[in-house]
Amino acid sequence: MAELQAKIPAGPLSQKWSNYKDHQNLVNPNNKRKLDVIVVGTGLAGASAAASLGEMGFNVKIFCYQDSPRRAHSIAAQGGINAAKNYPNDGDSIYRLFYDTIKGGDYRAREANVYRLAEVSNAIIDQCVAQGVPFAREYGGSLENRSFGGAQVSRTFFARGQTGQQLLLGAYGALSRQIKLGTVKLFNRHEMMDVVIIDGKARGIIARDLITGKLERHFGHAVVIATGGYGNVFYLSTNAMGSNASAIWQIFKKGAYFANPCFTQIHPTCIPVHGDYQSKLTLMSESLRNDGRIWVPKKKEDAEAHRHGKLKANDIPEEDRDYFLERRYPAFGNLVPRDVASRASKERCDAGYGVGETGLAVFLDFKESIGRLGKHVIQERYGNLFQMYEKIVDENPYENPMMIYPAVHYTMGGTWVDYELMSTVTGLFVAGEANFSDHGANRLGASALMQGLADGYFVLPYTLQNYLSGEIKVARISTDKPEFVEAEKNIQLRLEKLMSVKGHYSVDHFHKELGKIMWENVGMGRNAERLQKAIGLIRKLREEFWKEVKIPGSLNGLNIELEKANRVADFLELGELIAADALHRNESCGGHFREEYQTNEGECLRNDQEYRYVAAWEYKGEGNFELHKEPLIYEGIELKQRVYK
Ligand SMILES: Cc1cc2nc3c(=O)[nH]c(=O)nc-3n(C[C@H](O)[C@H](O)[C@H](O)COP(=O)(O)OP(=O)(O)OC[C@H]3O[C@@H](n4cnc5c(N)ncnc54)[C@H](O)[C@@H]3O)c2cc1C
Repeated sequence: MAELQAKIPAGPLSQKWSNYKDHQNLVNPNNKRKLDVIVVGTGLAGASAAASLGEMGFNVKIFCYQDSPRRAHSIAAQGGINAAKNYPNDGDSIYRLFYDTIKGGDYRAREANVYRLAEVSNAIIDQCVAQGVPFAREYGGSLENRSFGGAQVSRTFFARGQTGQQLLLGAYGALSRQIKLGTVKLFNRHEMMDVVIIDGKARGIIARDLITGKLERHFGHAVVIATGGYGNVFYLSTNAMGSNASAIWQIFKKGAYFANPCFTQIHPTCIPVHGDYQSKLTLMSESLRNDGRIWVPKKKEDAEAHRHGKLKANDIPEEDRDYFLERRYPAFGNLVPRDVASRASKERCDAGYGVGETGLAVFLDFKESIGRLGKHVIQERYGNLFQMYEKIVDENPYENPMMIYPAVHYTMGGTWVDYELMSTVTGLFVAGEANFSDHGANRLGASALMQGLADGYFVLPYTLQNYLSGEIKVARISTDKPEFVEAEKNIQLRLEKLMSVKGHYSVDHFHKELGKIMWENVGMGRNAERLQKAIGLIRKLREEFWKEVKIPGSLNGLNIELEKANRVADFLELGELIAADALHRNESCGGHFREEYQTNEGECLRNDQEYRYVAAWEYKGEGNFELHKEPLIYEGIELKQRVYK
């Protein structure tokens, strides 16, 4: 078993990052110009990294599969971004943000990384304000905060329900400046197909021009992967339809370990599934839980009458409503973390109290807050979310409670990275949702944007520079080298193989089937029997895929079905790894709920004795994965049963 070196700097927790920065190696300006960095992904993590590295003077090439960097999935982020500014003076601090994040992640995250994240959080807000990001402000001009789950302070900065959009426009502005200056070259409509490794170091990528279908070779002294999360392995999720796991799966096959793949987040407040032909789920931001109250009927007959359209939510009297989160978790109420809220909703629905046509929904009700604050305040705070809800559901949420249900939303797992955000492949860095780093077994709301921007604006500029200081004598490597030729040839063969199947079923057919297997067996509640079943079903489906998938069109030129097929082929392998990881972890923690391991009250039962580690998997061939462990050591925080009561 290879030793996992997290490279955590020495010293007390609060000084590790300062120590690192004080002693890291620098690259002088003349040498920076001679060093090339490839960044894959233009979401918040990739765009902020590329803009910063360009500004520093490195030569950057940035890739995305969309037509514009601004279409990265980050644009969809709604509710906000955390920082420990303590503007509301309600007791926040760097330590408290660190503490909440570790606790929220159910003690399965690396302490040093999380402390650094909390430490740089305030600088992110300053950076974004300087870029002109229009955060919401108080009457007096100071930035406004709201609350998100898992915290008793208000530390979430926001721009209505469009925080991701505004942050991405800020990062895109910074990126565009570098593109104009010539330090960053943009390759839009380009998809990374593989990483190229020469003498044990990442030295470039193979990309496919999605318009012409041509494969291209690109050299870099280092490669940064910032390609987002893999929630779409479940088919239905709140992610953008194009979000995929292919880049992190390609690097997994080339030696970059995959950490905690089973840690997926199911978000409690999404618009419920409404039909078989649906291809996407819509999030209703967690911010709504600031003012919305979650409930189901107390009486089963009321729930049933609602399901059959015989009773309206507003006709159920107050005394017959069960505000189950407030009842079960009086200290945090509707603002318990996502995993806790999701499970509680599922529990009520499974017990027969679910509402809506399918019985798989609970109410999110604003009546009380509209009465207390006035409709105009709710409109100011969440207007665009209410509008989105009304457009999709055709019901006015100011007048009737919203109906929501948990859905796949975020992946805490991802490529294993050390403190410098380098994977187990030298020179291959991974940032943003694509890495596993900071959220343990459950991410707190508004912490993904914080992490992506921390990685890009404030961590990689130091750690990547430290790595590149050792590369200054390496001249640019020709892309005619056998390693590039070989990698390109293998991609060509794979694409030809996909096109040659000429089966009978669409790519979506297989993706949907995989999603069903994953949701039913590897979803919110897992047990050994169903996980084993899932592994068998996924293997069978994968076999069928390679015999029966039908991809119209040709290999050359634009072919969206081919793009999808390539990604689904990877999902079909990743699904198995997720199930295997979930099966090996004989405990419940955060979003990973093993039904065999729960307290009498139905909460997660961790097993710190045996599972207090990051599970980092090594690829050993299809369906063959070897486990490596990074023990988690807690010095600044005491391990406890998570309590939100
Ligand atoms: C609906 C929704 C709302 C959310 N709201 C919030 C919120 O309010 N607060 C919060 O903190 N978090 C929120 N999140 C989570 C957060 O948005 C994401 O975790 C974060 O934006 C991910 O950023 P990223 O830069 O890592 O990746 P992404 O934004 O997903 O960007 C990925 C990039 O990689 C590129 N890419 C992918 N594969 C390839 C490839 N093979 N080749 C080339 N390019 C590739 C894409 O083109 C894209 O540019 C939300 C998530 C969803 C789904």
